Amino acid sequence: MTMRKIDFVVIGAGIAGLSAANRLARRGSVLVCETEEACGFHASGRSAAFAHFDMDSRLVRALTAASLPLFGRTAARFHPALFIALDGQERKLNSLASDYREWAPRLERLSADEVQGMVPILRTGKGGVVGGLLDKDARKLDAHAMLETHRKSIISAGGEIALRSPIKGLSRQAGRWIVDTPSASYSAKVVINAAGAWVDEIARLASVAPIGIAPLHRTVITFDVVGQHDMRAWPFTKTAGPGFYIEAEGTSRLLACPMDEHPSAPCDAQPGEEDVALTAWRIEQATTLTVPRIASKWAGLRSFAPDREPVVGFDAAAPDFFWLAGQGGFGLQTSPALALAAEAIAAGTDWPEELRAVGVEAGALSPARLD
Ligand SMILES: Cc1cc2nc3c(=O)[nH]c(=O)nc-3n(C[C@H](O)[C@H](O)[C@H](O)COP(=O)(O)OP(=O)(O)OC[C@H]3O[C@@H](n4cnc5c(N)ncnc54)[C@H](O)[C@@H]3O)c2cc1C
Repeated sequence: MTMRKIDFVVIGAGIAGLSAANRLARRGSVLVCETEEACGFHASGRSAAFAHFDMDSRLVRALTAASLPLFGRTAARFHPALFIALDGQERKLNSLASDYREWAPRLERLSADEVQGMVPILRTGKGGVVGGLLDKDARKLDAHAMLETHRKSIISAGGEIALRSPIKGLSRQAGRWIVDTPSASYSAKVVINAAGAWVDEIARLASVAPIGIAPLHRTVITFDVVGQHDMRAWPFTKTAGPGFYIEAEGTSRLLACPMDEHPSAPCDAQPGEEDVALTAWRIEQATTLTVPRIASKWAGLRSFAPDREPVVGFDAAAPDFFWLAGQGGFGLQTSPALALAAEAIAAGTDWPEELRAVGVEAGALSPARLD
């Protein structure tokens, strides 16, 4: 049997794999292999899909800044983000303000009363909100539109997306990768490992040393809000320290997340009853709302490298094995910049001006830093 030769076989049709494949489709032949029946079935389809600078790492903030101008009009729209300090979180809010302002100079400081004026359900006083930061330039992302735009443009550039095609084997033969799925085998020049929570499993299949990606479980619920509130005007609202974030979905439904982070094996993550109850409890403590009935709930895995920064680059020991991993809780909002980086490194083209402008160099993303 003759095997088809492909320049770049991308493993995983989440936002990482599709955005990189879309770029690489201009540099050679591209095939994306995905286990599931649809693109974005795992983390990419379960996210809150928001872009802001409340991120622990300067590198991630810089990648976000480089990404914002690259989102198309269907992928992102301006929507304010409000970061609140609950009683005891003032220091955390202060340090967030100084990190954040570098990227969002119009950031505004709000008093507890001003915060409550914007989101009237929030309690003030003991245990409640004591202050806030408002970023009017944050963006609401449309994950579905992002995935679909990449999917269509990969295909129109001559690339392919093979759904229901889990990678089962990866081996080296005559200086190329032999990539096995249950229905076909391919000969690839470069393998791009963009398998989200499964990237270390893919490495093991290829006899490459894993880099220690940790999938962390996160829960989301939605519920209907009783009472007269103009929720469309509410910003995406997130506590500066442990707590929750909330976001209006339409006129009467609220999405809430307790920002849980439980280690998990790679899997189809499901919401646990304890985390669902914790979410409702935290909302009831900090707001005037009660959560009598959950409208919907889901969970997803956010996958982090040991230093919680993304990993983009060739493995130091395995030729033509490329990591695109560790997108944590920022994989959508950094995907345009990370795809640019992946294109430049994997195809050997010039380092993009968009990344240079925010001070991001290839070395900061390289898997070699984790050795
Ligand atoms: C609750 C929640 C909220 C979030 N909120 C935000 C947010 O507001 N903003 C933001 O930017 N990010 C957010 N994130 C993070 C973001 O969703 C992720 O960083 C991003 O989706 C990761 O994309 P990915 O393509 O790496 O992974 P995935 O979307 O998980 O894609 C990996 C794909 O690889 C496939 N795969 C695995 N093994 C194989 C194999 N052997 N063969 C073929 N295919 C395989 C999987 O089936 C999967 O489809 C959130 C995540 C969660 C869970």
